[in-house]
Amino acid sequence: MPIDLRSDTVTRPTPAMLDAMMHARVGDDVFGEDPSINELEKMAAGLFGMEAALYCPTGTMSNQIAIKCHTQPGDEVICEKSSHVYIYEGGGIAFHSGSQVRALEGDRGRITAQQVCQSVNPDDVHRARTSLVSLENTCNRGGGSCYDLQAIREIRQVSTDHQLKLHLDGARLFNALVATGQSAADFGRLFDSISVCLNKGMGCPIGSILMGPASFIRQGRRVRKVFGGGMRQAGFMAAAGIYALEHHIDRLAEDHAHARRIGAAIEKKDFVRSVMPVETNIVIVEVDPTLTAKTLAAELREKNILAIAISPSQVRFVTHLDITPAMVEETVAVIEQL
Ligand SMILES: *Cc1c(COP(=O)(O)O)cnc(C)c1O
Repeated sequence: MPIDLRSDTVTRPTPAMLDAMMHARVGDDVFGEDPSINELEKMAAGLFGMEAALYCPTGTMSNQIAIKCHTQPGDEVICEKSSHVYIYEGGGIAFHSGSQVRALEGDRGRITAQQVCQSVNPDDVHRARTSLVSLENTCNRGGGSCYDLQAIREIRQVSTDHQLKLHLDGARLFNALVATGQSAADFGRLFDSISVCLNKGMGCPIGSILMGPASFIRQGRRVRKVFGGGMRQAGFMAAAGIYALEHHIDRLAEDHAHARRIGAAIEKKDFVRSVMPVETNIVIVEVDPTLTAKTLAAELREKNILAIAISPSQVRFVTHLDITPAMVEETVAVIEQL
């Protein structure tokens, strides 16, 4: 079996998670009758101090439901130019919401209140109506970088001043919480909506949770149905989510330590131009112009290590639940011999 560091989405349920799934109580969730989904939604909303939550099959669907609920066709959404909602969701903002994007150049995926302030369109018939700011934390293409809470508070203030909604794509928010010691409730207070993924570091086969005010989640439930995401006895999957919230948050620190170890090893190689600061479970390596990212990924693959070329010059490693300390040591040994 190769050591699969391509993504934290490749995990398989642990025996204990599978056991929780096998024993799930289920019902028809479109009727609101799946006890496991109801419990998971209540649990997540409670954790973030938000009024309500909606279980969705994917993070992409959670984000797109949020954007649909926060915008009208012809609106403009402010986000960073490497945001998942913008570059990795199939043009969903245009497709589902008929909105356009104002893409800002951030610092490893993070934008500032000043940038947001300068990007809000004036109230003028020529201009699209700016209605939403969407942040990402951790930032995937920023190498798993984390926002400071103060920076988010400032963006919250600008958003409020301009009557903009503020959404968080928190696909890896639990990684940020564990890495920084910030609390879920701090985030719940600052955003109009938050999506979190259960299928990444949390180790579930599928699933994402969208959170926000009760009225927003009521509207989101309707949009989820329209998008084809009204599931029936999905409590078997929600049970994995409950298990993950109970057992898989604190252990993310292990993944972060593993990522730092891999980052430190590869940084020493002469074919590496730079490594983005490793803050969580993602390591993004910029290779020297003499080499391409594809070549490095192919060389690693020959030695049983899977990483991914995310651009012509960047290779990404992601640590996760299925990566053991022994696998990290083997990866480091391979890197040292390249
Ligand atoms: C993975 C990811 C998502 C959602 O992905 P799905 O595969 O649809 O669950 C959203 N945002 C970011 C930053 C991600 O990395």
